[in-house]
Amino acid sequence: MNRRTFLSTPVLAVPPAAAASAPGAASLITRIRRLNLRHTWTTVMSSSQYRDTFFVEYSRDGITGIGEGAPIVRYKESAESCRRAVESIREWLSSQNPEAFVPFMDGVFRRVEGQFAAKAALDIALMDWNAQRLGVPLWRLFGLDPASAPVTTYSIGIDKADVIRQKVREAADFPVLKVKVGLDNDEEVMAALRSVTDKPLRVDANEGFRSKEQAVEKILWLEKQGVEFIEQPLPAANLEDMNWIRKRIHIPVIADEACLHPADIPRLAPYFDGVNVKVDKCGGLLEAKRMIEIARSLGLKVMLGCMVSSSVAITAAAHLSPLVDYADLDGNLLISNDPYEGVRVDKGKLILPQRPGLGLRPRVSAGAA
Ligand code: MG
Repeated sequence: MNRRTFLSTPVLAVPPAAAASAPGAASLITRIRRLNLRHTWTTVMSSSQYRDTFFVEYSRDGITGIGEGAPIVRYKESAESCRRAVESIREWLSSQNPEAFVPFMDGVFRRVEGQFAAKAALDIALMDWNAQRLGVPLWRLFGLDPASAPVTTYSIGIDKADVIRQKVREAADFPVLKVKVGLDNDEEVMAALRSVTDKPLRVDANEGFRSKEQAVEKILWLEKQGVEFIEQPLPAANLEDMNWIRKRIHIPVIADEACLHPADIPRLAPYFDGVNVKVDKCGGLLEAKRMIEIARSLGLKVMLGCMVSSSVAITAAAHLSPLVDYADLDGNLLISNDPYEGVRVDKGKLILPQRPGLGLRPRVSAGAA
């Protein structure tokens, strides 16, 4: 093949479906799905049996990209508000060039106030579409090595001792567990855990400690329980007490509720050892990658977290996971009716799909696609 033929040969065959649709016409489907939790999920913030998340299916030229965002009530988001946000710019979305996904998402951010889960769903659908278009898995579009994907923790929800022991047995394949603390029964929870496992633990206080003194007392006790690090011991707005705490403890402290967007990170850097980046909170993979880069430039550890969601959002985040130190991407494993399969877990390690795009496949047993 000479240079001329090489340049004129399409790198990818356009799938046959493209011929049937009008050239360049985009179609957009918005959807709300109810995801049922395997166990009632209790944290400092809430207790519930299901979550409704928001899905976008973006189709053009015979390719469909799928995205998902989990709305966060604290930030005035619901699956319905996500849907309204996307529907409010439907016409504009259809007129944009998806291949230029950076200005496309900039335009979305300029047009929609808040509603970051909706933006995340759009961003993920666009990235899935583009990687499929190029015929590569999304990690390759980001220039990453899937062999560097970290292990993910598996979250053990707060519960009665016998249920906790059962959950730990279900998590046999995971070398590191995550547990929520900050309620009155922390001692009971930790005793139940330690009666059945000696695996390293990562704990999340979800702002649950009532004072800096209590935080230090609890963290020193947690250190003795084999805890590797703690997330968000105090309320997000309380930065001034963080360094008082850090001087008295020995494990890293990771900001989560305090860290939503790229601009938060320089402000948090003097007070935390690392940040938890969540695609749903920041509004997509492009913003999440920006946050990871800013955190790295400031010498911070990076954790990639998630909400309860299907394999769509979890697989999307997993494609960025080779960039981070810690992954907490188990939201899809906590539900019983996941409509898709994508990223897999082998002895805790995230196994990224080799298929183009996110690499999702409908899960036939869920009866939905
Ligand atoms: Mg957290």
